[in-house]
Amino acid sequence: MIIDTHCHIQFRGYDNDRAEVIKRCREKNTIMNAVGTQFDTSRAAVELAEANPDIYATIGLHPIHLFSTHVDEEESSFESREEKFDYDTYLKLGQSKKVIGVGECGLELFHIPPEADRGVILTRQKETFLLQVKLAKELNVPLVIHIREAYDEMLELLNGLNKQINGVVHCYSGNWRQAQGFLDLGLYLGFTGVVTFPAKKTNPQPTIDLLEVVKNAPLDRILVETDSPYLAPQAFRGERCEPWMTIENLRKVAEIKGLDMAEATKIALANSKKLFTKITV
Ligand SMILES: [Zn+2]
Repeated sequence: MIIDTHCHIQFRGYDNDRAEVIKRCREKNTIMNAVGTQFDTSRAAVELAEANPDIYATIGLHPIHLFSTHVDEEESSFESREEKFDYDTYLKLGQSKKVIGVGECGLELFHIPPEADRGVILTRQKETFLLQVKLAKELNVPLVIHIREAYDEMLELLNGLNKQINGVVHCYSGNWRQAQGFLDLGLYLGFTGVVTFPAKKTNPQPTIDLLEVVKNAPLDRILVETDSPYLAPQAFRGERCEPWMTIENLRKVAEIKGLDMAEATKIALANSKKLFTKITV
């Protein structure tokens, strides 16, 4: 069994064949954590989780949705819709037994609206993140943290809280110095298909940094995930990513760590269940 600790199986990209994708995951013994990014996608994650024993849900507001902007990614483009985090509405949604985490929440300085004031954006993102830290505590579940181009800002914020934070930095893509900061805070690091990508010839440093983090990170703090429908691992690059592909990311982590797959699978499963204590499979 493997747990895809971060996917978006509720997203529109699966509307035409979601049942088949879930069936493929079931055949490959893959449990899913469907992560919300706004209220709508959080509610959809909970609904799917309640209808399927092998799907769990994480609810929250992604920092990209605090402002309206056009987002162009390799795999998709969309208009982010502005939403204000409504604590009580999320708290109510969080009463489902299938809700195992709060997120994805965090800081995002890559996609910001053109001509926007970076300071204003960062302040609103921090305030919204802190509300979700509070929600996670109240629901007694870990945080699923998104960070893009704001690793040092997040470290500063978390260190200022002066308390142990329970959660995972999902799709980790910072360097080893920053990773040590998150590990010191008690956080896990989640690795996606990015670990399987070859280094860019024009800019190899991010890949070198990432592989160094995988190599150095303690075995008991590593999680694997897909972030599907985004970030298909190298073996499936160009295709829509599906949660069962998590195994490819684990394979790469096992290779870097010098583990056989049986051992790596056991460790990944144990770590996932240790963080997401409400997973009962
Ligand atoms: Zn995600």
